[in-house]
Amino acid sequence: MFYHSTQDNKKKVTSAEAIAQGISPDGGLFVPESFPQLEPATLENMLSMSYQERAKLIITQYLTDFSDEEIDDCVYSAYTKRKFEYKNPAPIASVKYNGLPLNLLELWHGPTCAFKDMALQILPHFLTKSLKKAVNGLDAVILVATSGDTGKAALEGFRDVDHTKIIVFYPESGVSAMQKHQMNTQEGENVYVCAIKGNFDDAQTAVKKIFTDKDTSEILKKNKMMFSSANSINWGRLLPQIVYYISAYCDMVNLGKIDLGDKINIAVPTGNFGNILAAYYAYEMGLPVNKFICASNSNNVLTDFINTGIYNKNRQFYTTISPSMDILVSSNLERLLYHMSGNNDEETKRYMELLKKDGTYAVSDSIRGKISSMFYGGFCDEENTKKAIRDLFLQRKYLCDTHTAVAVSVYADYAEKTGDTTPVVIASTASPYKFSKAVLESIGCDEMPISEFDMVEKLHELTDVNVPEPLSTLRGKPSRFSEVADKENMQAVVLEALHIQ
Ligand SMILES: *Cc1c(COP(=O)(O)O)cnc(C)c1O
Repeated sequence: MFYHSTQDNKKKVTSAEAIAQGISPDGGLFVPESFPQLEPATLENMLSMSYQERAKLIITQYLTDFSDEEIDDCVYSAYTKRKFEYKNPAPIASVKYNGLPLNLLELWHGPTCAFKDMALQILPHFLTKSLKKAVNGLDAVILVATSGDTGKAALEGFRDVDHTKIIVFYPESGVSAMQKHQMNTQEGENVYVCAIKGNFDDAQTAVKKIFTDKDTSEILKKNKMMFSSANSINWGRLLPQIVYYISAYCDMVNLGKIDLGDKINIAVPTGNFGNILAAYYAYEMGLPVNKFICASNSNNVLTDFINTGIYNKNRQFYTTISPSMDILVSSNLERLLYHMSGNNDEETKRYMELLKKDGTYAVSDSIRGKISSMFYGGFCDEENTKKAIRDLFLQRKYLCDTHTAVAVSVYADYAEKTGDTTPVVIASTASPYKFSKAVLESIGCDEMPISEFDMVEKLHELTDVNVPEPLSTLRGKPSRFSEVADKENMQAVVLEALHIQ
């Protein structure tokens, strides 16, 4: 299996090269040259497998330059009982919401309580092995721009991993208090955290620029280092996400919710388009899917895109209670455009150049038609997000976070509008305790505590839902990082954090 760049499909690299580089030097993203097919018999065999065995089976087909032992090591180092709360790291909770059956795929039982752990616990293992194969001798400098959850999950995944250093940038006032505290208290000798004055897109744009800056790369090389990425543009992030959709399908069969071969709908609260793209990749491998429901918050650039074929990031940016989706440039959409254009690198490049130059582009009728036949786009404002949390809790004593609530609400709209009764799997992307204030407001709390940890306690008192251990043990941890930088100065921050220039 080789990988092409979305902006140059003559380029051909191994999975180790794709993972080590993160992003292609031409600015494109790496995509697999084809999708391995899951035969019905394979899917049937997977029914009786553990999550780890399913993961091995899928990952092996993509990382063909890795040995079986290497893949075993990656999978079993990542998805252990020590790191994930349950033996199945991605269990399904079935509840009814206004009479509508939901299957919530809980992807937040890992060490940072967000779905990013599913990929970021295994990526460092992919990456260190890839570095050995592809660029022996260089240390990897992981640059991360985060809207909150990626930062902490990446820090936790990479902390004290040999031959890696990690630097995380987050928007100063664009993440929750808990997210900030999680990042600023991060332990590890190879970690650095810095807030920036700007929003997530500013951070991401600057990181991309530093990444492709020739001078900076030279300085790193002289110091036996190279940049790599843990953002969802890295192939090593997407691949582990394919696994849980296929695994969830098997669990749906085992739970008696569907028969093998039946189609499901998949609803995903979407920001950078990584999580939903992984679901689409599972479908390309043969998973029976009817519709992908792409759920946005008030930053509804993807809703408009799916409905009109016009992507336009020139619009007001909203800071919402689902901050990990406060994104106007959904990087992974580039991969979908590439596939939908029939692997047309020039066309993809043209859209990306227009996006950079004008902030907007309109896709061809052909792409627009393909996307709208498979994807439904909808969005949900702050009031309806809170209403979904409240209703689900009052009706079923089930507590979901703000991001998951966006997907629940958009899915309910979809079901009502279309009458589609295909069983749904909804990606539940974070623990409600990561967003305690908004969740407390949603369920109606008259006396809001002041400190984040008092809010956690209050939420526990009111709901009797367990607080995940990684969050309860954060209380009282000292803060290690407090730098706030201008977005223009991020490159200097990087060199300083690495003690090079
Ligand atoms: C990152 C994140 C999302 C968005 O996922 P994308 O892959 O960026 O679309 C949704 N919910 C939570 C809690 C997240 O952390």
